[in-house]
Parts: sequence; C-alpha cells; structure tokens
Amino acid sequence: LQTRRVQAGESIFYEGDRGDFAYIIEEGQVEIWTQVEDKRQILNHLNPGSMFGEIALIDGQPRSASATALTDVRLTLVTKEQVNRRIQEADPLLRMLLLMVMRYFRSETQNFRSRGKALAPKFFLEKLYPDINPQKDISFRLTEAVDLIRMENELRTALDEQQFKLVYQPIIDLETQSITGFEALIRWQSPKRGFVRPDEFIPLAESTSLIVPIGQWVIQTGLEALTKIQKRVNHPVSMSFNIASRQIEEPNFLEFLLDCAEKYRLDYQQVKLEILERTLFDSERAIAWVQQCHALGFPLVLDDFGTGYSSLQYLNEYNLNTLKIDKSFVQGMNVESNNKSCSICQAIVNLSKTLGMTVVAEGIETDEHLQALKSFGCTYGQGYFFSRPVPLEEAIALFED
Ligand code: C2E
Ligand code: CA
Ligand code: CA
Ligand code: CA
Repeated sequence: LQTRRVQAGESIFYEGDRGDFAYIIEEGQVEIWTQVEDKRQILNHLNPGSMFGEIALIDGQPRSASATALTDVRLTLVTKEQVNRRIQEADPLLRMLLLMVMRYFRSETQNFRSRGKALAPKFFLEKLYPDINPQKDISFRLTEAVDLIRMENELRTALDEQQFKLVYQPIIDLETQSITGFEALIRWQSPKRGFVRPDEFIPLAESTSLIVPIGQWVIQTGLEALTKIQKRVNHPVSMSFNIASRQIEEPNFLEFLLDCAEKYRLDYQQVKLEILERTLFDSERAIAWVQQCHALGFPLVLDDFGTGYSSLQYLNEYNLNTLKIDKSFVQGMNVESNNKSCSICQAIVNLSKTLGMTVVAEGIETDEHLQALKSFGCTYGQGYFFSRPVPLEEAIALFED
C-alpha cells in the first residue's frame, strides 16, 4: 500500500474527510478545489512532483479542500507516521512555527470560503513570507524531501525483494601483506535508481529504524560468507560490521549476534563491530553495550577516528580494541612536506600503541601512503591499493594468489 491509482474525474478525497495520507503526484494532474456557497472554486492545479493533502496530516483536522484527478494519476502515499516522525525530529521552534502557519492557513481557507474574496490559500506563503520565492526556494527542497519519502518507501521493500548485496574489502597486515579479515559493506541495487551508495540510504534507514532488519540481514549474510571463506583458509579470518547507533538501542541486537555466531560456529574474536565516535555519545546504552561486547569477546573498532569528537576521555573509559584512522587523513598525507595529515596519522598510531590498542588505516590508495604508514608503525591497512570491496567469490579468490 504505497501507491494509489485514480482514474480521470474520480475523487481522491473530499473536504471534511479525515486525513490519513498525504500524496505525491508521480503521474497525471490533480485539481484542488473547495465549495464556496454553491460554486466549485478551483484552488490549484498540481503536476507531477507536487505534494498535497499534507495539511490534515500535520494538524489532525479534517481536509480543508477536495482533490480530484484531472487525468489518470498515480500517487505515492505518505503516512502520518512518516510525517510525524520528521516533525518530532525538527527543532522545537520550527515545530511551533509550523503549527502557527497551519493555523493561519486554516483561517485563510475559512475566510476564502465564507467571503469568497480572501487570499487563496495557495498564495498564503507568499503573504506570510514575502522574501521567499516559492518557485525558486522551496521547489528544490521539496523535490529533495519528496524524493526521500519515495526512497523510504522503496527501502521498505528492498529487503524482501533481495535488492541488497554485500561486498567485502580485505584488511591487510602491512608487515606480511597478508589478509587478516574483511569489512562487510552494503550495496543497494535499486530497480528504479540503479546503484545507490550506502552514504545515501544508510542515514535514511537509520532514521526510519529500517536499519534494524537491514543490519540483521548484513550480519547474517556476512557471517555466512565468513564461514565459506574460512573453509578455504587455515588461519582465522575476521569479519567487521558497521553498526549504526540505532542498532545499539535495539535490546535484542547482541542476542541476535550471539545466535548468529553460534549458528556458524565462529569464535567471537572473529566478529568485529565498527562504531563511530558519535555513536558513543548518541546512545545512552552505549557504555553498557560496549562493556557487554567486551565481556563477550566481540572486538570493537572506533571507525573514522579523528573526524568526530576524538575525546580522549572515552578512550580511557571504554574497552575498545582498535582505532581506525579515517581515510581523509591517509589521503591528505604529503610525504615530501611531512604535512599535518602525516603528523595526525603518526599521532593516532602512537596513541593506539600507548593505550594497547591496534590500529587500522583506511583508504590506502598508493604505495606512498603504505610506506609512510609503515614508517609510523601502523600495523593494519585497507584501501584500493590492496583491493576494492569485492563480491564473495572474488574475496575467496584473493587467497589464491
Ligand atoms: P566506512 O565504514 O568508513 O567504510 C569505508 C568506505 O571507504 C567504504 O565506502 C569503502 O568502499 C571506501 N573505501 C575503501 N577503501 C578506499 C580507498 O582506498 N579510497 C577511497 N576513496 N575509498 C575507499 P562505502 O562502501 O561506500 O561505504 C560508505 C559508508 O557507508 C561506510 O563508511 C559506512 O559508514 C556505511 N556503511 C556501509 N555498509 C554499511 C552497513 O552494512 N551498515 C551500516 N550501518 N553502515 C554501512
Ligand atoms: Ca567502517
Ligand atoms: Ca571508516
Ligand atoms: Ca566513513
């Protein structure tokens, strides 16, 4: 129930109806109208890309106007939950402004209806905010916002329709140049959008809690892959997973992880969990969670180290096993001039040693990066210089060279 088709001439909703959905027009044209005395007053004609019906969804009042399909139309549905969640996440001041604008809108619609000569609601924004050019300023953002809703709807079905794939990037022992493990990275092959980068859909999945089932799929699939890799390799290989804050909040996460590790008979040391610095701040459960992981024996990796808070306090408080130097520092290194990025990489390596942690450098693209990091004493690395993230068969083949 994510799209609705309405034939030309049919009604989508009537004034006074309860507002259960807002709509995005994918195809066709819609007329918004209201009854003034006996006459039908047209308020607006809307084209693909426009959203309507959002007012009743936001303020919980009945529909303030009617909507009719002018041609055959195809609509994407936006639920109350989708809108409310975004409003809840907004700044409280913005929330209040929104409600004030809504009230204003309602009273203008009322005026329009009773006197027939007040401002048509479609112009109310221009009156309220004369500096805003709705065409220029809002339509671009609206297109973006509307597309996020569409993407969210598509993400809901992507898992069932097996549109996700995992790829594996080797993590290398820089001294011996052998593979010690892999990082599992998700890919989304969308039938509508083609290949979508995780940076584009993971934050959305996180804000909608879809990250929970997606994250379970990642762990399940990644550990199954690890058993296949392990069958061909004599030394223990690890699999690292990126864990979002929202997953830490999930009370069953560790239980699920334990079940999977048991099912595939893996040593917990082989299952590494990568978290961002901000996750330690975002989640109230983080301290307890980290201690539990530590007690169970799942190694914890602090990802993108140096780009977040880099507070030394929690390095002291938490039991973390590994620091992962962010690729921006690795790639920013200019060995000739021994610039700041070099100093930062060196400092992180030294810090990890002082604290008895291991260190991984990500984003190694050149031999120059590699040699510099080795000279600083960095022990593990990952990057295109060794291998891009690859499908399972290629990951297994990497051991055969
Ligand atoms: P990340 O955890 O920092 O992952 C490293 C990113 O750097 C990956 O991008 C990887 O493909 C890329 N990379 C690796 N080596 C090189 C290199 O030499 N040069 C350059 N330029 N890039 C390199 P990717 O796969 O696009 O993932 C982006 C981000 O999406 C990840 O950043 C991670 O935060 C998130 N992500 C990916 N998979 C998952 C997942 O299963 N769950 C969660 N929660 N997040 C994920
Ligand atoms: Ca990572
Ligand atoms: Ca990283
Ligand atoms: Ca990153």
